[in-house]
Amino acid sequence: MENQLLVRKIESGTVIDHIPAWRSEMVLKLLDVEKIRIRTDISLVSLNNVPSRKYGRKDIIKVNNYYLEEGDADLVCLVYPAATINYIENWEPMKYRPKTPERIFGRIRCPEVGCITNSPREPILTRFRVLPKFKVLQCEYCDSLLDFENMPEYVKGK
Ligand SMILES: [Zn+2]
Repeated sequence: MENQLLVRKIESGTVIDHIPAWRSEMVLKLLDVEKIRIRTDISLVSLNNVPSRKYGRKDIIKVNNYYLEEGDADLVCLVYPAATINYIENWEPMKYRPKTPERIFGRIRCPEVGCITNSPREPILTRFRVLPKFKVLQCEYCDSLLDFENMPEYVKGK
């Protein structure tokens, strides 16, 4: 019965699987959702708390007709290392191998209010060093640290 909930396969697009249970909303925050929303041919389904043999429970996101940008895919896997991303073409899944970026430009706001990148007068593109060992980003301007798991809350609004 539960399997009927899992929605049918998609012909082309992206499947993000093995997202920790109830975290799909956070994953959506990491994506360039505006780019998805302006396209009328894209449908997206997000499944919460479905049974998983490996993890007990998990979330899944399926995006029909849209191939996640690699930068977005890398961000998702940075925050949720268990997540797997498959690009589907003609029903065939191709697993994406995420890269750990050394730096992240522009996508994330600095958590430090007084940081020059948050100055309303002279907006500067944010620059973060990625420190995978400590699971944090470090702002290159003010050295503030941001835990990977808090990144979804600091994605810049478009
Ligand atoms: Zn900063």
